[in-house]
Amino acid sequence: MQVKRHFSLKFVFLMPLVVSLLVLALTGKNYYDSVNRDIDDEYQRVVEAFARASKVISAIDYSFSNYSKSNYILMVEHNHHVENGLCQMWPIDMLLLSEGRHHEIPAVDINYMLVGEESLCNPESEQYQRVSGQVSLAPVLSFLHDIDDYLLGIHYIDKEGYLMSSPDTYARSITAELLATVKARPFWQQTANNRDLITITGPAPVSTTSALILSMTMPVYQGDVHQGMLSVDIDYDELLETHGKLAGELGIVNTAYLSLPDTALRPTALTLDGVNTSHTLFYQFDLAKEVRNFFIFERYSLAVVIFIYVLSVIVLFFINTRVEHSYFKELAAKDPMTMLLNRRGLEAFLKNTQHGNYIAIAVLDIDNFKSINDTYGHDVGDKVICYMAESIESSVRQSDAVARVGGEEFVIYMTGGDAALLKKGMIRVQQAIVKDSETAVERGFTISGGVEIVNRESGSSFEQLFKAADEKLYQAKTTGKDQMVF
Ligand code: GH3
Ligand code: MG
Ligand code: MG
Repeated sequence: MQVKRHFSLKFVFLMPLVVSLLVLALTGKNYYDSVNRDIDDEYQRVVEAFARASKVISAIDYSFSNYSKSNYILMVEHNHHVENGLCQMWPIDMLLLSEGRHHEIPAVDINYMLVGEESLCNPESEQYQRVSGQVSLAPVLSFLHDIDDYLLGIHYIDKEGYLMSSPDTYARSITAELLATVKARPFWQQTANNRDLITITGPAPVSTTSALILSMTMPVYQGDVHQGMLSVDIDYDELLETHGKLAGELGIVNTAYLSLPDTALRPTALTLDGVNTSHTLFYQFDLAKEVRNFFIFERYSLAVVIFIYVLSVIVLFFINTRVEHSYFKELAAKDPMTMLLNRRGLEAFLKNTQHGNYIAIAVLDIDNFKSINDTYGHDVGDKVICYMAESIESSVRQSDAVARVGGEEFVIYMTGGDAALLKKGMIRVQQAIVKDSETAVERGFTISGGVEIVNRESGSSFEQLFKAADEKLYQAKTTGKDQMVF
């Protein structure tokens, strides 16, 4: 006998898996969307950083172009010395306070240095005169060089070969050779030719540190005469640091010279008003890092997915167990051959059913069944039993019940408000069985029955009713068969 299950084992494991995979796919989509949103945010932040840096450089450029004047007195306020063939100058402390503005301006650490050829230190030299026309702007460089973390420094390189730089560290590292070759570098020409534009160059390593630098450069003009170059150095790593938001890294590449790496996603051309750039922002995709990030960021959703899976399997198992349980219970209360109730099933049914005013119990038995078995064989006998079961079932109402209580012995329960109608009902069943009995066995057959009809109020038990009906059946059998005794 095969166990009847509501869900197959395959279904129990696969269905929750499909649901879990769907939820997992939704989680993945959610992660994908959030990564894209983060990339958008980061791109916007980077573009805004460039925009801020370009404002810084434009402001300084404007100051250089318009406010250069002789500041010989200021120059006196500078220390200077010659080192390795270069003149280095730096402000004496309290430079700003000496100008009498100390009430409005908060204490600012002025940090810059001028560096040029040895002659720069000679007050009689042309370079000295030229520097004194520009030195008042050096503190501005100092104010702005660290306005944002990603700004490494601001430099002014004069066409006459000296450099003004904040912070002073960069100027200190300048060598005579570096200074001599600065104008020969491609960015110098490129920047000089874009008079009103800021040019972005890099990323490139600088000799002083191992960091990669992006430079924003702008030429300084007075009238139509090119004076020098302003440059803001941006720390590439600091600018693109995503602070743990994204698994992959951001990158910027100058696509005029280099191609994007194979792993680059979401390439977006950098566009900024007034800025000459052929740079592209991109997201560096790394599968292993991305998967790890996915598991970290979506750990709660993943826990829910696992929970859904386990819970679904348990629920389906539970349903299966319940179904199996009720199946076996049902099986125990039924006769397997006719699928009618057995005696136990009928008793359970009667306990749980609502009776009408009258209750009728009939015990029916096929007459001379042994001879059917003997003549046509056991199989035909079985067929007759099944025929009788079907015939009774189709003749009674939904509220009635039929049970097979012995070999070819059946019990019918009927209930209603009228005893006479119940009697009629029993006779109708008997006649219906006998009428078409030839369809089951060639020569047909007859049946006898004993019927006990009582008022519900009598409180008779099933046992009592059955016994009384069985006695009447005996009476029917002993007084000629093929009849119902009431
Ligand atoms: P009576 O008219 O007095 O009822 O005579 P009868 O031959 O029908 O006698 P009885 O009711 O005592 O006979 C029952 C017989 O039914 C005995 C048994 O061989 C047969 N039988 C019992 N269960 C089955 C069954 O499941 N299949 C078949 N084919 N025969 C059965
Ligand atoms: Mg019989
Ligand atoms: Mg019998």
